[in-house]
Amino acid sequence: MPFDALEADLEARRAADLYRRRRILGSPQGAIVDVDGRRLVNFCSNDYLGLASHPDIIAAAQAGAARWGVGSGASHLVCGHSAAHEAMEARLAAFVGKPAALSLSTGYMANLAAITALVGRGDAIFADKLNHASLNDACQLSHATFKRFPHNDLERLERLLATTEARRRLIVVDAVFSMDGDSAPLAEIVRLAERYDAWVYADDAHGFGVLGDGHGSAAGIASPRLIYMATLGKAAGVAGAFIAAEPVVIDYLVNVARPYIYTTAAPPLLAEAVLASVELIEREHWRREALAAHIARLRALLSGLLPSQTPIQPLVVADNAAALALSQRLRDDGLWVSAIRPPTVPTPRLRICLSAAHEAGDITRLATTLASLLDKQ
Ligand SMILES: *Cc1c(COP(=O)(O)O)cnc(C)c1O
Repeated sequence: MPFDALEADLEARRAADLYRRRRILGSPQGAIVDVDGRRLVNFCSNDYLGLASHPDIIAAAQAGAARWGVGSGASHLVCGHSAAHEAMEARLAAFVGKPAALSLSTGYMANLAAITALVGRGDAIFADKLNHASLNDACQLSHATFKRFPHNDLERLERLLATTEARRRLIVVDAVFSMDGDSAPLAEIVRLAERYDAWVYADDAHGFGVLGDGHGSAAGIASPRLIYMATLGKAAGVAGAFIAAEPVVIDYLVNVARPYIYTTAAPPLLAEAVLASVELIEREHWRREALAAHIARLRALLSGLLPSQTPIQPLVVADNAAALALSQRLRDDGLWVSAIRPPTVPTPRLRICLSAAHEAGDITRLATTLASLLDKQ
């Protein structure tokens, strides 16, 4: 048969507890979701502020569809760049304290676009070992020399910077590490970039909307060397991503970044939805306060979590089978927590994601159920 090799590969994944399948949701994102016909408390979502089905954002998307239609019709450089995209980019740039911004359809694309445009052969990338897969793919694709330093090890980073002879030098980090929930020391990294004439690319997919009173992980860091990227499908509750930087950087990306140039612009109605979301992120401080209270509650009730002050609270477990078994037991009890396994992470874990949409009782229930399951293991 033509695909025997693929079947054998899948079989090996099953045997190693690495086989993946999708679960089917029958409800919008929220603290409670309908999954494969059952109601579960959702601890998997990146909808950290509970905005993914907020009525103001839904109304903005509906009004956006009425005003702009659905399809954008073309790429941004042909005829797909609407006044809604333009207004969203200006709002996002100002919101994160940068002079200019560029929007893309997804965070994965934003990373491919920026990194492959900024560096190439003869240049060097210095990347944290725990960076997100999309950053690693972008770094590989750029053809720049790709050097990785141990997680948050700035001494190693400095040594690499001090000895490079590359033409352009780009430091690439997650601002919040997506599987561990800890942060990169961005201010110190920017200082190193200044000392060694490098640029910094920070992916703040999990910090935007949450950290820096919503303005993100780079709030208060004024350096023009910092190129800031965040996604809009997580705390912002919509879809897409943006890169915020000096105008020359944005202009360069518009002219050079292939994943930006050769793709259809996102629907303008999404830009209208993002504008409504930024209003809520700016105004509704209570969402971040509720989230902080949930994080504190979980950490007080459950021991063994990795150190993290963000909504991502990972619990490292013995092996893939244990991760899957715990996730299954929790699901039997109506609690949905994802098991994350290699190659996504080096060590298998439960990745608990908290949201302002949760209630205090949800957190208590998760902590007590999980503690008793761990006792029984
Ligand atoms: C989710 C994520 C992305 C990808 O963003 P999408 O908009 O989902 O494509 C990029 N970087 C990090 C760190 C992420 O967690």
